[in-house]
Amino acid sequence: MTTTPNFPAMPASSDPMPTVQAPRGLHVITWGCQMNVYDSARMADVLRPLGYGPVERPEDADMVILNTCHIRERATEKVFSELGRLRKIRDERIGNGQDRTIIAVAGCVAQAEGEVILSRAPYVDLVLGPQTYHKLPEMVARAARAGGAVIETDFPVEQKFDFLPTDAAPQTQGNLTAFLTIQEGCDKFCSFCVVPYTRGAETSRPVASVLAEARRMAESGVREITLLGQNVNAYHGDDGEGGSATLAGLVEQLAQIPGLGRIRYMTSHPRDVDQSLIDAHRDNPALMPFLHLPVQSGSDRILKAMNRGHTADEYRESVRKLREARPDLALSSDFIVGHPGETEEDFEATMQLVRDIGFAMAYSFKYSPRPGTPAAGQPMQVPEDVKDRRLAELQALLREQQDAFNADMVGTVQEILVTNRGRKPGQIAGRSPYLQPVHFDGPDHLIGSTVKVAITTRRTNSLGGTLIRETASAC
Ligand code: SF4
Repeated sequence: MTTTPNFPAMPASSDPMPTVQAPRGLHVITWGCQMNVYDSARMADVLRPLGYGPVERPEDADMVILNTCHIRERATEKVFSELGRLRKIRDERIGNGQDRTIIAVAGCVAQAEGEVILSRAPYVDLVLGPQTYHKLPEMVARAARAGGAVIETDFPVEQKFDFLPTDAAPQTQGNLTAFLTIQEGCDKFCSFCVVPYTRGAETSRPVASVLAEARRMAESGVREITLLGQNVNAYHGDDGEGGSATLAGLVEQLAQIPGLGRIRYMTSHPRDVDQSLIDAHRDNPALMPFLHLPVQSGSDRILKAMNRGHTADEYRESVRKLREARPDLALSSDFIVGHPGETEEDFEATMQLVRDIGFAMAYSFKYSPRPGTPAAGQPMQVPEDVKDRRLAELQALLREQQDAFNADMVGTVQEILVTNRGRKPGQIAGRSPYLQPVHFDGPDHLIGSTVKVAITTRRTNSLGGTLIRETASAC
């Protein structure tokens, strides 16, 4: 077997994969969304049989994976700057006689710019897109054999989920909350978004595969799961009976898993809010009353230019129905200001929609062109100073609404999933149905339970309260 100097020897791809290898350090740097957080954990899973375990510092790692995100501005430059740092670390390790660090670039930048990465940073060993991380062990072996870089950015026919380890979801050991990807990719092609190009077409995991992973999570102690997908409410996984399940149907089955008391999902699209999902919010108490439903703009003209496929009033109507079904439902959303062609009138329509709906939380950004997306080439780009002003106005309103929502919690009783000890002695902490951190006095043995807490104070980023009942539920 030919190996590059000090490159750790790996099995050939045709060799049977060993179950245990000498311990090796793995350091994963994750940028971007929760989906990338989930993917990073699964990459660690597939590398575990090769002996890779987590290390805190890249200096101690035999492999470093940069799991990248292409959503924000200058994403590619950020990757190259980090790669430069990793190269120095690798050179120092080689100088010290240690194994040469394997450098891998994964995620959406890898998918979009794989060839560019290899030509600008030829010292990178592995480049893999979000759909191919199940091939990591084989890629490591190929890189060791060939002594050169290996790139995998195709959208494979097989689903990566079919190739992931099925042992007891070890990345969640000791965790009470976890992410679970159920759907990936997107066919909606919003004008500003790179996801359809980097994550590929919309696919859903079969129901049985999701349930199996959720059961393993629950058995390892997870009490709250967040189902992930770029279009999570477009979920249509194989139901094992020749049909496909909706998100509502999946949630119903997940809610029956012992121990899984709380279910959330993100990110949903307004176009895919159907009656079954609205009914699920009414009928299924495990579904948390906090919904992230991105609207992006309140102007029909801009929604059309964004190719969102719905109007502002259709969004209002979906929210009305959801609130009718679940009166304590709160909403968060995403907004983009300064999409090409956005006028003052369009922006005012966004402000009006925010006033009409009232959001508990929101993420808002200035539009910035993403290469290869339709909006990037559109005329009538909005000047930066105009975008700055609009964003500041919008964020002021959203902050006001968030503050009011948190203030309204004082005097209410909330069910809190206790997740950890608090900062002060005798204190424990957890999260409310609305993901607010809540601190209160109570015994440690309640960690992992859901308890009732009277909310008494509101601090900048958290709530304080008094334990009023140890419901002592497993969740
Ligand atoms: S629906 Fe979401 S993921 Fe799909 S293109 Fe639009 S913004 Fe991107």
